[in-house]
Amino acid sequence: MTKNHYGKCHICGKEGKLTFEHIPPRKAFNWHGAKVYNGFGALSRSQGEAAKYFNSQQGMGKYTLCQSCNNNTGTWYAQAYCDFAMDVIRSLHAIKSLEHGSVVNFKFHDCPKLQIVKQVLAMFCSLLPISIVQRLGFDKLLLERDSNTINKELFDLRMYLTPFQNGQIMCGPTAFKYKNGDSFETLWVADIGVYPFGFILNLTPKEPVDWGISIMDMFDAGYDEKYNFELSLMYLERTNNAFPLPLMFKELPDQQQ
Ligand SMILES: [Zn+2]
Repeated sequence: MTKNHYGKCHICGKEGKLTFEHIPPRKAFNWHGAKVYNGFGALSRSQGEAAKYFNSQQGMGKYTLCQSCNNNTGTWYAQAYCDFAMDVIRSLHAIKSLEHGSVVNFKFHDCPKLQIVKQVLAMFCSLLPISIVQRLGFDKLLLERDSNTINKELFDLRMYLTPFQNGQIMCGPTAFKYKNGDSFETLWVADIGVYPFGFILNLTPKEPVDWGISIMDMFDAGYDEKYNFELSLMYLERTNNAFPLPLMFKELPDQQQ
């Protein structure tokens, strides 16, 4: 019944049969139907055409990884991410009301930071062309279980909290032009919203994104090392969930400390 998908694996680059990668991992609340947008699809919809999205019965994800990469990332990184997400979901349930711009402080214990952040990158690999995955070195990083070698000059990875009713949103790399003094700069970002988290991958780190907080220091951890640490995450709502674009958040109320 299921049709075979062939192509290049988004992590190792090998050509062959592709398997369905759940984004986020299935255990982290990902078993409902979901819409997957790519940046271009979202753009064309905002220009009045129907977006191309993949309405998945299997939960959110894409056929982007070979069996081996899917199994390895699943075994090496996914469980830590799921535990981390469940921790945050439990804490959020104790909070009566969250408003756009609220900052919530979380304390984590015995947390394998590197495994979690590598799972986040594995999710982004499904959205990125393999050429970009290789340029950023995400392929080498993910194929080697213990590696934490990454060039921090090439990207910034940021994190925030996303509403439950948003569903799951994937925005592939999208270019934004904005005016900076007399010149126009281009920002190139991808965004994944997967309750309870949202992640922003800024591929032009010289043009900083202010939304969320950077989690680049999680790459300093060792694979087997567990940490106690705190994280202050801002809860952000989007201006439009129907055709999501990266960074399309509501304006913040008067900046609090
Ligand atoms: Zn592969």
